[in-house]
Order: sequence, then C-alpha cells, then structure tokens
Amino acid sequence: MNRTLSLQKNVPLLALNSFGIAAMAQFFLRIERAGQLLQLRDDATLSAMPRLLLGGGSNLVLSDTVNALVVQLALMGKRVNSEDERYVYVSAAAGEKWHEFVLWTLQQGLGGLENLSLIPGTVGAAPIQNIGAYGVEMQDYFHHLTAFDFQTGETVTLDKSACRFAYRDSIFKREYKDRMVILEVTFALPKTWQVRLNYGDVAQFLATKNIVQPSPKDVSDAIIVIRQSKLPDPAVIGNAGSFFKNPIVPAVLRDRLVASYPSMVSYVQTDGSYKLAAGWLIEQCGWKGKSLGRVGVYPKQALVLVNLGGATGAEVRQLAQQIRSDVRGKFGVDLEVEPVFI
Ligand SMILES: Cc1cc2nc3c(=O)[nH]c(=O)nc-3n(C[C@H](O)[C@H](O)[C@H](O)COP(=O)(O)OP(=O)(O)OC[C@H]3O[C@@H](n4cnc5c(N)ncnc54)[C@H](O)[C@@H]3O)c2cc1C
Repeated sequence: MNRTLSLQKNVPLLALNSFGIAAMAQFFLRIERAGQLLQLRDDATLSAMPRLLLGGGSNLVLSDTVNALVVQLALMGKRVNSEDERYVYVSAAAGEKWHEFVLWTLQQGLGGLENLSLIPGTVGAAPIQNIGAYGVEMQDYFHHLTAFDFQTGETVTLDKSACRFAYRDSIFKREYKDRMVILEVTFALPKTWQVRLNYGDVAQFLATKNIVQPSPKDVSDAIIVIRQSKLPDPAVIGNAGSFFKNPIVPAVLRDRLVASYPSMVSYVQTDGSYKLAAGWLIEQCGWKGKSLGRVGVYPKQALVLVNLGGATGAEVRQLAQQIRSDVRGKFGVDLEVEPVFI
C-alpha cells in the first residue's frame, strides 16, 4: 500500500454525522489533496473496498458499523476566479463548509447564495441533492464542477446540463453514484442582484425590521434567524434536516385529496402536477411531537426526525418506515426519504 495514504481502522463516526449516531467506520481515510484519490484508485486493496464518501455527514443515517472504507473529503480553498459582463465566478473546494462559503461570497459583495444560508454540510456535497431552501436551489447559481472519476482515474469537468439537477436530485445520486468524487464547485454570481423573497416569512421578517430594500446580507441574516427558530441545531439535537422530500403527485390525486382535506397545502408545478407539503401529511397522521424508541418527530416541524439520545440507524429507519406506511395508508402518497441510509 502507498505510504502517503494513512489508513485508519475502527474509527468512531459519532462526531462526524449530524444525526449523532454512534457508528464505527471499519476503515477510514482522510483526503486532503486531490492526488491522494489517484493513489487510492491505484491501491489494489483499498480500491476493491466498498466506499462511503463523507462530507459533513449532515445527510446520512449510518448503521452501527459501516463496513466500508469511509473517505472523508477535506479538500480546502476558495477563490474568486474571473468575471465577465454579467457574472463573477467563484470556486470552492469540496471540503469547505457550505455556510462559511456563502458568508464569504457575501463578504466579497456577491449576492445569489444568501437564501441558502445556514444549510449544514460541505460545498462538495451541495450538488449531490441540489440543495435548496427559501425558493432557491443550488443549480440556480451553479456553473460547473470538477470531479475525480474513479472509473477512468481522470479529472473531469461537468457543466450544469451534465449534472442533471432536479428537485433534491442529480446524476450523482444515480449513474455517477460511487463513481465521481466532487473536487471543486464553481458558481456564477450575478453582478446585478435581485432579491428572491418567494417565501412569506422572510419578507415578513424584513418588514418587521423596517428593511425595505434588503441587501443580500440582510436576507442571509433574516434566513439565519428564521432557520434557527424553526430547525433543531444538530450540535444539540441530532437530526438530518428535512427527512422526506415534498411529494409531487398528479393533479387528479391532488384534487381528490383537496376535496377530502380542504386545508391541504399544494403548489402547482410547471407540468401541471402538484407538490404537497410532506410535513403537513405527517402531521395529519398524528406524528408531530411523537416518538418511536429513541427517535422522535420534531415538535416544531414534522418533516424533521430527531435523535432523542443514543438512537441507532435501525431505529431511525423503523420510524421512517412507520411514517411512510401511515402516510401511504391515509393519503395514498409515497414519501421519499431525503438522507442517504448507509
Ligand atoms: C439541520 C439541517 C438542516 C438542513 N437543511 C437543508 C436545506 O434547507 N436544504 C437542503 O437541501 N438540505 C438540507 N439539509 C441536508 C444537508 O445539509 C445537505 O444535504 C448537505 O448538502 C449535505 O452535505 P454533507 O457535506 O453533510 O454531506 P454528507 O452527509 O457527508 O453526504 C451526503 C451524500 O453526498 C455524498 N458526498 C459527500 N461529499 C461528496 C463529494 N465531494 N463527492 C461526491 N459525493 C459526495 C455522500 O457520499 C452522501 O451520499 C439539512 C441538514 C440538517 C442537519
């Protein structure tokens, strides 16, 4: 084995996953330079092992023992790249913390990413599920990324269309799963910024502060306060953010449900289908604030499952299954889980 790769065995992952699951990695490798990925690929023993790429661990539900080589991506660095008439191009390495990167762009006087403030995790994981919040998705400002292709050993550049972004989805969850390691992501931030306040509570919050013409920093500050009031802090209560995607259903099913539940929230999509609020569906099934074993449904937001102390991945899976089954039984709607189960 190559000496510059320092392989560790039986490494505790408790501090490396936001759900606070006391998992153990059978094998563990920290990657600080892109070149180490080539060494990993060239090592016959290591490259034959199943791999789990680890960013900030904020979208994972781990089993007690992760029988794999956990590869922690700790590539660092961010920079303003270039500009043209309309955009400034900024890049950040995979291991940079997303929220710190957003704050850094704001410090450079660049708007665009402010609605995505305070999302945990790393820059490298942001394209995986095309992170989104408050009416903005990462893909809205994405320009391209570079990735290490484990199949060929090459570093490739992928533009937006190659990444096939969709609602909490991308090619990295499908064809490129276990193949591509995202190394660096580049964003195109507009020189002429426009505020995006599609969500009532942000506009309302700014109004209460008498901010009529908000700056990107004002929007970021508002979103930080709102998120802190609504979502549990993983440092205090283990969680993985929204546990289920908001389901998209055909108009015919939505109409039938509205007839039975007139207060049901739904948003029409460009193709005529409807997005439903998963949190509302879960609440209607009586799960808000309830628990099963050591896993609970957050009392302030039914979309968030929380670790009540010492929960295992199996317990999280059990509660998620029970909720899915109840929602399917009551509404005929299938909820898709957002975090990755390992
Ligand atoms: C309190 C809380 C709030 C949240 N709010 C939101 C929200 O508003 N919107 C939203 O979209 N998400 C939200 N999330 C989910 C989470 O923050 C995002 O999915 C985030 O992008 C995960 O980043 P991570 O570095 O922690 O990834 P990890 O959990 O470490 O990994 C997630 C997946 O990405 C893969 N991966 C990680 N890094 C790389 C890489 N460099 N190359 C290839 N694959 C990689 C992993 O193998 C895994 O499959 C929230 C989570 C929490 C805990």
